[in-house]
Amino acid sequence: MAEEKTKTALLREELMMKEEKGIRNLSSEEIAEADEFCEGYKRFLNAAPVEREATAAALALAKQRGFIEYDPGAVYQAGDKVYCVNRGKAIALAVIGKNGVKNGARLSIAHIDSPRIDLKPNPLYEANGLALFKTHYYGGMKKYQWTAIPLTLHGVIVKLDGTAVEVSWGDEPDESCFCVTDLLPHLAQEQVTKPMAKAFTGEDLNVLVGSRPYPEAEDEKELVKLNVMAILNKKYGITENDFLSAELCLVPSFKAKDIGFDRSMIGGYGHDDKVCAYPALMAALNAGVPEDTCVTYLADKEEIGSDGNTGMQSDFLRYLIYDLAKQDGVEGYRALSKSTCLSADVNAAFDPTYASAFEARNSCFLNNGVVISKYTGHGGKYDTSDASAEYMGRVRALLENNGILWQIGELGRVDLGGGGTIAKYVANMNVDVIDLGVPVLSMHAPFEIVSKTDVYMAYRAFLAFFQA
Ligand code: MN
Ligand code: MN
Repeated sequence: MAEEKTKTALLREELMMKEEKGIRNLSSEEIAEADEFCEGYKRFLNAAPVEREATAAALALAKQRGFIEYDPGAVYQAGDKVYCVNRGKAIALAVIGKNGVKNGARLSIAHIDSPRIDLKPNPLYEANGLALFKTHYYGGMKKYQWTAIPLTLHGVIVKLDGTAVEVSWGDEPDESCFCVTDLLPHLAQEQVTKPMAKAFTGEDLNVLVGSRPYPEAEDEKELVKLNVMAILNKKYGITENDFLSAELCLVPSFKAKDIGFDRSMIGGYGHDDKVCAYPALMAALNAGVPEDTCVTYLADKEEIGSDGNTGMQSDFLRYLIYDLAKQDGVEGYRALSKSTCLSADVNAAFDPTYASAFEARNSCFLNNGVVISKYTGHGGKYDTSDASAEYMGRVRALLENNGILWQIGELGRVDLGGGGTIAKYVANMNVDVIDLGVPVLSMHAPFEIVSKTDVYMAYRAFLAFFQA
């Protein structure tokens, strides 16, 4: 016979938070669905290390599913699907709702740029028989992590006649790649005693790109550099001056891989924030005919503060909402004021190896589902949008009512550091917004780690938000 529960035990059950069961709440079918969903995610991640490629990959998937280019002069019906590309580096996908944007739009906004190493405008030089690129890092990084790993060159070069050449070198298995060198431990006695920020500086991020002199030369001047330029000229038709009008960057060459004996996680470059961009994109593709118009925006420049015309501080998305509102016969600012947003960005998963950086009761954990961050920022809640209790309540109910595994998470221990997302720029447009995304281990490292079930729960959350 079962033991009868005491009054205290019953009261505890009624009033107190249950122990977090995380992935144990999920059925084996749900876990299998998550694994399947992540196969598509890995393909997207591998195809889209930088924002231009992510935009192209998202556009290709959207076109396959019937999205057409947005025309501000056209009349749209519920269920129509349109896209709007911002300078090749960001993309908005809208699914027209039954109410249009009269009651506001539902926005899911992720970013598709990730920390990386950009080339300086005048990058190529020769030193001691080696050809190297001078670089300027992009986004927050621990610079030592980018040494002694294979790197791939991506980007675009615009020539004087205006033609653009797309560059991708190092992704194919038989293609060469590039590398930042590091000092051998035998001679690193001084280096290893320096603070990390000084042991390896931004100006040390020089990328090795060649070592053989131009053959059959008639003099000895910068022949290794000349040889590199000759190779680049042959492949891309460029001269050294063309680097002046280029956007070239180096990203890790390794592809996404399953992690763990149980294959429960994915390691890869650029999870922050493609791991939210892809689920938000798939939710847009599968939104059906929503009540309110749903807009997924994949933004650029988040890692450097969202400045610039492809970042979230630009008016691009605002103008799109204004155009949609005009078509619905309402003022753009009124449509915005009624809009709601999920700022789709990652948070730092609790890492037992660095437990002291976190406050466990308010951290997110791998496999506990999609993470809601009411605020990010630093210090005394500076530089963040602190979502209202009302909006938090709505999102919480949405997740609970749709059986979506979710958790809350602050970004680490108070006053240890901090970080921001695009949420505050969306909030500044008078939109209700909260951060919702995937917990990440080793965030901003060349190889970041996420849980497959968390990725899938992010997709379920965006879809429920669009279809509610
Ligand atoms: Mn991010
Ligand atoms: Mn980031």
